[in-house]
Amino acid sequence: MTLPTALPMTVPAPALPPRVRIYEVGARDGLQNEKAVVPTEIKAEFIRRLAAAGLTTVEATSFVHPKWVPQLADSELLFPLVRDLEQDAEAQLPVLVPNDRGLDRALALGARNVAVFVSATESFAKANLNRTMAEALAMSEPVVTRAREQDVRVRGYLSMCFGDPWEGAVPVAQVVRTAKALLDMGCDELSLGDTIGVATPGHVLALLAGLNEAGVPTDRIGVHFHDTYGQALANTLAALQHGVRTVDASAGGLGGCPYAKSATGNLATEDLVWMLDGLGIETGVDLGRLTATSAWMAEQLGRPSPSRTVRALTGTSHQEQ
Ligand code: MG
Repeated sequence: MTLPTALPMTVPAPALPPRVRIYEVGARDGLQNEKAVVPTEIKAEFIRRLAAAGLTTVEATSFVHPKWVPQLADSELLFPLVRDLEQDAEAQLPVLVPNDRGLDRALALGARNVAVFVSATESFAKANLNRTMAEALAMSEPVVTRAREQDVRVRGYLSMCFGDPWEGAVPVAQVVRTAKALLDMGCDELSLGDTIGVATPGHVLALLAGLNEAGVPTDRIGVHFHDTYGQALANTLAALQHGVRTVDASAGGLGGCPYAKSATGNLATEDLVWMLDGLGIETGVDLGRLTATSAWMAEQLGRPSPSRTVRALTGTSHQEQ
């Protein structure tokens, strides 16, 4: 597919980092919310195309129990199909490991980057993992310790950092406490998740300041915004101005939010790259190749991408959705 090569005019703005690392979550966080199971070969091709578009961190899959997330039940088959990218393309391919067993499976296949997942609220810990927050942290601790012993890099996902569908607003101090616990157990990096997309920029800055005050350096913090209420890019810009340099995004905006009645979930990588290109911030990503990849994936899934940039660049209208 040939796409128009429209790019934003580059006009830098003050107080922004020169380079941002995009942590691509489409193949895991995006696809896990898709009902129709995508063939393993298509997933492998998707990951390869994402890496070829210049994404250096592409979360590949999850070693969750196959019964919990049928879409990702093929992780044992998929990971070996893409593992060579870690050497040949110097991409990192993190995988989610919910527990000890997941870590064993990931390590057996040579994973060098893993991620654990905890909730910043009791309600979501209960709903998602059927555990208390303390139990979820206790379950993650040996996973993190064992991974670090093998020089495997560990990311700690923290969900519901800005709001929770059961509890409403989530106090900053509660998020800071849980974030500290993840770093204290040995996580290299945190990803602050706005799982239901309710954050606004002042709230983002308040949480980042709270984390800094508690001794968490900004360079260990990544942000994971959802566009449910159209705030993802505004929140991203606020985080970048604070000094954050790792931003999660999902190619084509894949992945609706299961806890909000909306088709719009993850921040689309193309929308993020459009803004960063316009600001003159380096990402290493080729927007044309990335858009072509998401347009191809949308064809596989049988519906247009929710990304505004993908739609604008491919001429896909709203009405088609
Ligand atoms: Mg997400």
